[in-house]
Amino acid sequence: MAPKSDIEIARAAQKKPIREIGAGLGIPEAELLPFGHDKAKISAEFIAGLKDRPSGKLVLVTAINPTPAGEGKTTTTVGLGDGLNAIGRKAAICIREASLGPCFGMKGGAAGGGYAQVVPMEEMNLHFTGDFHAITSAHNLLAAMIDNHIYWGNALGIDSRRVTWRRVMDMNDRALRDVVTSLGGVANGYPRQSGFDITVASEVMAILCLATDIADLQRRLGEIIIGYTAAREPVRARDLKADGAMTVLLAQAMQPNLVQTLENNPAFVHGGPFANIAHGCNSVIATTTALKLADYVVTEAGFGADLGAEKFMNIKCRKAGLAPDAVVIVATVRALKMNGGVAKADLGTENVEAVKRGCANLGRHLENIAAFHVPAVVAINHFVSDTDAEIAAVQEYARIHGVEAVLCRHWAEGSAGITELAHKVVALAEGGAARFQPLYPDEMGLFEKIETIATRIYRAEAVQVDDKLRAQLRAWEDAGYGNLPVCMAKTQYSFTTDPEKRGAPTGHVVPVREVRLSAGAGFVVAICGEIMTMPGLPRVPAAETIGLNADGQIEGLF
Ligand code: ADP
Ligand code: MG
Repeated sequence: MAPKSDIEIARAAQKKPIREIGAGLGIPEAELLPFGHDKAKISAEFIAGLKDRPSGKLVLVTAINPTPAGEGKTTTTVGLGDGLNAIGRKAAICIREASLGPCFGMKGGAAGGGYAQVVPMEEMNLHFTGDFHAITSAHNLLAAMIDNHIYWGNALGIDSRRVTWRRVMDMNDRALRDVVTSLGGVANGYPRQSGFDITVASEVMAILCLATDIADLQRRLGEIIIGYTAAREPVRARDLKADGAMTVLLAQAMQPNLVQTLENNPAFVHGGPFANIAHGCNSVIATTTALKLADYVVTEAGFGADLGAEKFMNIKCRKAGLAPDAVVIVATVRALKMNGGVAKADLGTENVEAVKRGCANLGRHLENIAAFHVPAVVAINHFVSDTDAEIAAVQEYARIHGVEAVLCRHWAEGSAGITELAHKVVALAEGGAARFQPLYPDEMGLFEKIETIATRIYRAEAVQVDDKLRAQLRAWEDAGYGNLPVCMAKTQYSFTTDPEKRGAPTGHVVPVREVRLSAGAGFVVAICGEIMTMPGLPRVPAAETIGLNADGQIEGLF
């Protein structure tokens, strides 16, 4: 019999009513705002009342540089959460919400896989509780108010050629990357060139995920720079008086969503910023709330550790006052082989030498995590094609580097397949070895921050940036933004800016092509290499095979 697909496993789940999941965390029923029977938001009032409680242990799940298929970070986050509960710890997981774009583009959901999934997976991958629609609306309200302001006389003197605020939509649609708005004559305003980004790339998404409460949300929305005047003075959302209405649109979306795993353990699924031009982690409010309600919180950062973990540490933890107690680095034999030079088509064939070569990539991520002073363990996410010799090679490599690599079979077996890792994580977290420290201080100059990440995390020889960008960074420092962290946007497949350079390359140069200020989110983005903020659909999009079957069930989602 063929193994069951993710959606078949999810459909067979024995879900508990969401109020029972909430009760398990001590959330009174009245503080849950239910969306159907299996999803609920947690009320802002209840969250505000948790402030003085102690926090549980925070565990980050990250990964080596992945293959294009993804290496199972979400799957391992879900599995480890279930595993910790199985060994008697009160654990919750925190992951991101899914974007519709990739759902209809490339196969692959955001709810984990196999027997380590979050349910209801169909809804989580579709409209869920409407948060992304709220973010889209708030973002586009600001866009509409900009053009409206210009139309009615432009009292703020916005230079319509220097409006940086675009529009967003939660869909992969390359046709909208570059557009001209306000065509059609006098009644429609002043034509200008603009475009659309996918909703997860919106600064509003990053703001929602970094805001600590509703007041902080409104303050940050007001700080958004929408463009510049002819004299190059920034114009902010609050100059357009848009921050109040945007906050109203986002008030419900700010409350974290509670769902459950296949094993009925609590899962916070909230927010979903891009991991390139934004920081790629679930919301601060979900993570801090989960830490007040559970003894262990397992959370995921997007992409490989060079991007995801770096931003989790330097942006999210620094700004939210969080400190991880342990890090799990997910490695797969497949991705190690790819890092060892094997082509995607040949990943199914045993190749111990390639695994050994690829381990250099794992070793560098281990060194990098150590630079944040948090203890780490490697989770080998087991695939059926892995051979014993390949697995032994990874374990041997880790052992020589003073770290344990634990074989995990949560995808096939659920919590029963990951209890060894759960015990190991508890030992690390309770051993108290973590002394979390960000990589650079707030006071460091913006260019020096970019250089620090490029040389210490990517191991680049140098950063290449032209004088114009350097002057821009200095101007932001003079304007009071010098203490912000930087958010690096580069390929997830390599330590370099070239996705083909796998393994542990050295001697490379990191070219910075563009810098952007996300004043509301509170970071400066350094764009290194090609970064797409509005993806396109592939030649054969997943949408072609998605539909309802005769029983009204969704088919083809994954
Ligand atoms: P990431 O979070 O790293 O992008 P996911 O956890 O979302 O990765 O997994 C990506 C895909 O790989 C999912 O479709 C999942 O079902 C599949 N997958 C994960 N682990 C395994 C495994 N051990 N064996 C087979 N497929 C897996
Ligand atoms: Mg993931």
